[in-house]
Amino acid sequence: MSLHPPPVGVLADGDAHRTAETDRSGWPGAVPSRVERPRDVGDVQRVLADAHRTATPVIARGAGSGLAAGAVGVAGAILLDLSGLDRILHLDADEQLARVEPGVITADLDAAAAAHGLMYAPDPGSVGISTIGGNIATNAGGLRGAKYGVTRDHVLALDVVLADGTLIHVGRDTIKGVTGYDLVGLFTGSEGTLGVIVGATVRLIPRPARIATAAAYFADITTAARAVTAITRSGVRPAVLEILDGPTLAAIDDLEGTSLRDRGDALLVIHTDGFGAEEELQVLTSAIASLVSHVETATDAAASESLLFARRRALPALEAIGRVLIEDIAVPRRRLADAVDRIAAIAFEEGVRIFVFGHAGDGNLHPIIVTERGGPNDPVPAEAVAAAERIFALALEFGGTITAEHGVGRLKKQWARRELGADVHALQVRIREAFDPRGILNPGSSL
Ligand SMILES: Cc1cc2nc3c(=O)[nH]c(=O)nc-3n(C[C@H](O)[C@H](O)[C@H](O)COP(=O)(O)OP(=O)(O)OC[C@H]3O[C@@H](n4cnc5c(N)ncnc54)[C@H](O)[C@@H]3O)c2cc1C
Repeated sequence: MSLHPPPVGVLADGDAHRTAETDRSGWPGAVPSRVERPRDVGDVQRVLADAHRTATPVIARGAGSGLAAGAVGVAGAILLDLSGLDRILHLDADEQLARVEPGVITADLDAAAAAHGLMYAPDPGSVGISTIGGNIATNAGGLRGAKYGVTRDHVLALDVVLADGTLIHVGRDTIKGVTGYDLVGLFTGSEGTLGVIVGATVRLIPRPARIATAAAYFADITTAARAVTAITRSGVRPAVLEILDGPTLAAIDDLEGTSLRDRGDALLVIHTDGFGAEEELQVLTSAIASLVSHVETATDAAASESLLFARRRALPALEAIGRVLIEDIAVPRRRLADAVDRIAAIAFEEGVRIFVFGHAGDGNLHPIIVTERGGPNDPVPAEAVAAAERIFALALEFGGTITAEHGVGRLKKQWARRELGADVHALQVRIREAFDPRGILNPGSSL
């Protein structure tokens, strides 16, 4: 087996986001007993068979860009770094699918598809660093989710190494098929607790011939949230519908030297695609005309990308100003305006700074609680924890969810139980035990 023992706690390339002790959630994990970087599926099978025999915990890891502390080091555990399995094995332009290894970077798959006039639709904000395996394990969403859904909607088949080292293939390499239970759906979003994904067949779709983008600025975020309802009712479904509040715009300005905040106190980035992209964008901008204070539009790729650029820099801009506690709730879209008002009240009452951006088209908000930076092992300040708890409670009160796309990880275990309820939680624990009777896969995470 080809292993490259790294310096203690640090994976091979030493980037900040690749430290084995934590992921991008900043959650303080522990230095694992060893890091394994398999070169092929057989390596993964051998690691798991041995771990199963010795009851050693195994934490699967892609790029470590996760925001729920799902891939963080655990004392005594093997950290299984899948990033070296990074080949696109086959891209079939006629069948419109690709077979990939788990370590393929999401943007690289989309770029390979683009060479055939195709698109890999899921595009998390981390598209340039996250892996397909990590995206599948978290059922990642992304900017294009408003029209194209989440990762689960694009996975046809999976190769998975089970806890005892057995390799299985689930799903099929056809566009349709319903034989047996939907194990592809079950593994997708299972956060490394049911098996290690070592291969995937994913759906590709025609790359849109035309695109159009609008950056619509509003006097405040509550008005922007109302505009989301107007867009939902307009009869046109945008491909991207992102919301950012004024403080987030100011943070991006500070990081990037832009002047977004001068244009308004909230931003909706609206993107349409397909042959009717410009016409659709016109319908959408008309639908929000009475609410908006300033609009910029673009119909070519470079200008569209520059309007989307702000959204992609939102999280790095907040990470630059302090320690971030990243929340990921979804609420029914008609409750978005109520939710942003209530989050502002929580920030005021708890005395913390909360920045808000998110995938408004999916009702998915990322309230980001920013506190003083402190040391890497300092506990999260009590007022930030209190604010986070109230945000989770708010999501459930509104009939929403505590995590729309980042996953439960180690951060949200207690709240996942509350959302699922005792009966469903117990059923999910039994499913987990059926796949992993010795409890070696990502213990302490998810359920
Ligand atoms: C700037 C930024 C923007 C982001 N934007 C989004 C966004 O828009 N939407 C979104 O959903 N997320 C977003 N994320 C979060 C993160 O990028 C996603 O959760 C991503 O899917 C994680 O991929 P990864 O390869 O980094 O996985 P990791 O962080 O390494 O792992 C994540 C989880 O998957 C498991 N896992 C990883 N690989 C495998 C495998 N091969 N088999 C089994 N389990 C595995 C791990 O055990 C862990 O539980 C963002 C993160 C950043 C830093």
